[in-house]
Amino acid sequence: MTRFDDGIVAVRYAARTESKRGEHFYRFDADCCCDALPIDYFVWIVATPGRLILLDAGFTAETAHARGSREFFGTIAESIRGLGRSPDEVTDVVLSHLHYDHTGQLPDFPESRIWVQQREWDFWHGPMTSRKMYSHIYEPRDIEYLDQRFASGDVRLIEGDTEIAPGVTARLLGGHTPGLQVLECSLGDRAVVLASDASHYYDNYELDEPYAIVDHVPSVLNAFDRIRELVADEGTFVPGHDPLVRERFVHRVNDDENLVLVTAQAVVA
Ligand SMILES: [Zn+2]
Repeated sequence: MTRFDDGIVAVRYAARTESKRGEHFYRFDADCCCDALPIDYFVWIVATPGRLILLDAGFTAETAHARGSREFFGTIAESIRGLGRSPDEVTDVVLSHLHYDHTGQLPDFPESRIWVQQREWDFWHGPMTSRKMYSHIYEPRDIEYLDQRFASGDVRLIEGDTEIAPGVTARLLGGHTPGLQVLECSLGDRAVVLASDASHYYDNYELDEPYAIVDHVPSVLNAFDRIRELVADEGTFVPGHDPLVRERFVHRVNDDENLVLVTAQAVVA
């Protein structure tokens, strides 16, 4: 097994295949817009010479079971071992936002620093979390675990764009949630934007049609523009949940179909 120590991998840890196109676009109707559109669940690993950075922490097998209809392929820790690395080597976990599918496996990385935008932190510690609109899209026990890590001094609350490591910068975009951040990474002289849920699918960004879950529509559209600026010089972006990622990035690490090597240029559709 090759030890992966420089580059970016999209890890597909779960999927939900029984899903319709209308579920994934703002103000679309799943009953009318009912073509199948499966959703993949990813996290991303950025290996640099001195750091092993994880963008997002997925959900757990228990959460997959409790929420139903989600196929769970394995833990992030297992995927990291599949890269020839140990989960204990993860130095940083950047949380794009605090929805349930991005926070669940944090306990597997007890040695890491955790990076969250202050605005995101405040929202999920605020009064809206008990409202029906929001209560189903986060896991209270994940927030409780984050609170423990905060008390231990492991959480870095940041405000706006912040360098995480040389060549790896968190950028606050908002839109999907109040404090959504993406990760801009340098790959050679090109920029790769790991967009997470700033754009769930290529189609959200390419058709200028926001995802179904939105905090603020103009901020989603501004986030698309910001990504366009960041990748303008022959860079590329990686959406958060699109099965097409596995077609536009054709290489795999250690022959694992769920370890997608992210290169500076995707295959153009
Ligand atoms: Zn998500």
